[in-house]
Amino acid sequence: MIAINIYNFFPLLSSILFLILGVLVLIKDRKSKTNIAFLFVCISTFIWQFSWFLLFPTRDAASASLLIKIGWVGIILIPVSFYNFATFFLGIRNSLNRIFLIIVHMTAVAFLYFLLFSNFFIDGYHNFFWGLYPKAGMLHPFFLLFLLIIIVRIFYLFFLYYSSQSLAKLKVYQLKFLLIAVTFYILSSVDFLINYGIEIYPFGFIFILIFLAIISYAIVRHRLLDIKLVLRRSSVAGASLGVVIGSAVGIKFLSREYFPDYGLTINFLVLAGAIFAYPRLSEFFYKVANKYFFTSLYDSRKVILDTTNRIRTILEENKIYKLLDDTFRRIFGVEKFGVLDLDDDGKNYTISYNRGFKLEGKEKFPANPTLHKAFIEKNKSIILEEVKDLYYSKDTKETIKMMEKAGVEVLAPLNIKKRTIGLLVLGPKETGEMFNKEDLQLMEIIGGQSAISIENAQLYSEVVNFNEKLKREVKKATADLEETNRKIRRANSKLSGAYKKLRQLDEAKNEFISIASHQLRTPLTSIKGFISMIMEGDYGKLSASINRVLKKIYISNERLIKLVNDLLSISRIEAGRFTFNFRKNNLPQMVSKIMDTFELEAKEKNLRLTYHPPEKEMEDFIFDKEKLQEVISNLIDNAVKYTQEGKVEVSVKDNPEKARITVSDSGRGMAGNELEAVFEKFRRGSKSTSVDTEGTGLGLYVCQKIVTAHQGKIWAESDGPGKGSRFIVEIPKDLKPSEGETKKKAKEKENPKS
Ligand code: ADP
Repeated sequence: MIAINIYNFFPLLSSILFLILGVLVLIKDRKSKTNIAFLFVCISTFIWQFSWFLLFPTRDAASASLLIKIGWVGIILIPVSFYNFATFFLGIRNSLNRIFLIIVHMTAVAFLYFLLFSNFFIDGYHNFFWGLYPKAGMLHPFFLLFLLIIIVRIFYLFFLYYSSQSLAKLKVYQLKFLLIAVTFYILSSVDFLINYGIEIYPFGFIFILIFLAIISYAIVRHRLLDIKLVLRRSSVAGASLGVVIGSAVGIKFLSREYFPDYGLTINFLVLAGAIFAYPRLSEFFYKVANKYFFTSLYDSRKVILDTTNRIRTILEENKIYKLLDDTFRRIFGVEKFGVLDLDDDGKNYTISYNRGFKLEGKEKFPANPTLHKAFIEKNKSIILEEVKDLYYSKDTKETIKMMEKAGVEVLAPLNIKKRTIGLLVLGPKETGEMFNKEDLQLMEIIGGQSAISIENAQLYSEVVNFNEKLKREVKKATADLEETNRKIRRANSKLSGAYKKLRQLDEAKNEFISIASHQLRTPLTSIKGFISMIMEGDYGKLSASINRVLKKIYISNERLIKLVNDLLSISRIEAGRFTFNFRKNNLPQMVSKIMDTFELEAKEKNLRLTYHPPEKEMEDFIFDKEKLQEVISNLIDNAVKYTQEGKVEVSVKDNPEKARITVSDSGRGMAGNELEAVFEKFRRGSKSTSVDTEGTGLGLYVCQKIVTAHQGKIWAESDGPGKGSRFIVEIPKDLKPSEGETKKKAKEKENPKS
């Protein structure tokens, strides 16, 4: 049974880790020569460390010398395998190097020979309190020389490679880190001092552990950028752990010396102290590490101030994105930058800005509630490397895959207080470095400020868009209106043209009627005169039958005269030339004369035609005799026309203010709705056509015009169809003589030209 104590624990640990790393590298790529070469580095280191783990507590000489030999086989192989690894890694294949390689191998074989079969190389061992350790023999310094040559050669090769090729920044970075790692490994050479009797504990394991930390990540994942994070984390954790354990061991040691009785209590106190101190220490180391080893190339306070000041003044979304893009490109050297906009329902992100991310046509990304809760909601950024290791679950799998595929490294929140409006999306830094705490803080602060500005810009653009839309709508509506207006104007001008034409036609018609009527009236009047004379026997006695025929001719002629008069009046009314001649006249006498003209017709139709003049003698008053005559004869004519049997009565009533003429008959009468309508032009009663086919519907219209010109009234009354009608005319008696005429003349004097 091998005892494990505090002294041989570390060689055990490092040997195990190197073994694991070797296996991992091999699994990663079994065919790669570089990987196989690295496996040899791991194996030789394992042989060395594992042998020392066994050697330290050994007390018997035989097994000690065997273990020493085995361990030294490992040590001799280390520079050889490193050299192999370097040539494969750098891809060096020239013949000079091949020769050098052969020499190296042969020298190594020689050292192995002397090691295994003589005491020249190792000469027994030292016995220290922490364990046994080999003693340097005669040939030992030659090995150190050999080692030195190989180290120099390796650095030289690295330098050649570095300067001969135009390398990508990432590769340069990788090389640097490899060199740092190798340097750490070389530092483990301090252990050789012990071979020469200098009594220190072989703490070379610390350096190879650091080498391990750097290199393992670099080789396995081929991304040295990860190393920085891992290195920082592991070095911080290692340093904190080291300090805590170191102090614990120290305290334990001292307490055993001075307070041997309180072992348990002190153990407990030490444990409590360690638990308390560890997180604080690691925080402290983190800060120190950030400050001295991972400093950024920008002054974050200045960047934050500048950027937020500028962003605040920008009102356009795209300009904000561009500014953020420029800023992050400048300070982080990110090759890809984007902005995602969170939908109002918080379920999907849409791309607002993108430079460099491969999206394969995707425009929407579902929000991940788990990650949102763990990071974004708390105003913390999502770092791919971090969530990949610590938050990988079936909930986050898809999102993480998506981030990896698109080349997303960091998602920083765009939060306004606790409300998320979107995300800043950053790709990896050009240098391959990880985003450090300071970077993230800067992003989160800038993100918070930008979120407000972005939201403002969105609102602003909404308002602007709305305004634009409104303008467009108004413009459209105005255009529509203008179009309608144009149409109306066109229609109007057409209409007014048509109207003009119509008026011209109307005038022509009136002219024609007026001329025709004039021309008709004269012969008709003379016909009337001659017929009267014939009937009165001026041309000899007439037989009864001729007399009958003449009567009929006379009646028809009367009707024609009346019609011509109506037409003439109408044409005058419409031409505005309907003038009146107001003179003092005697109304009862006039009516009596009209009655005479109907006697014949009434007799023909067997109608009783009676006239009731006013009881007392009526004084003359002013009216247009000719016109009023037309009115009354029209009314009597209608009464005779629309009455088949019975009577027609005409009465004149005198009144201090007005005269009233009533023409009543026992004829067909009228329905209530007809009473007013009959006064309209061309309006004829519902049955009039069947009774009298010669009616025109003009008579009552003309009557009304004439009565109105006398400032009088005319209306019809009837007790209903079949019950007779009454037409009543009232004419005021206080009219001035020929008002219209005098006025006209007065006007002409004022304005002689018109
Ligand atoms: P006309 O008699 O030539 O048709 P009027 O203007 O004189 O034209 O009369 C208009 C209408 O009024 C007539 O068609 C008729 O229907 C009605 N009317 C006029 N007078 C009477 C009446 N005394 N009795 C019944 N209906 C009448």
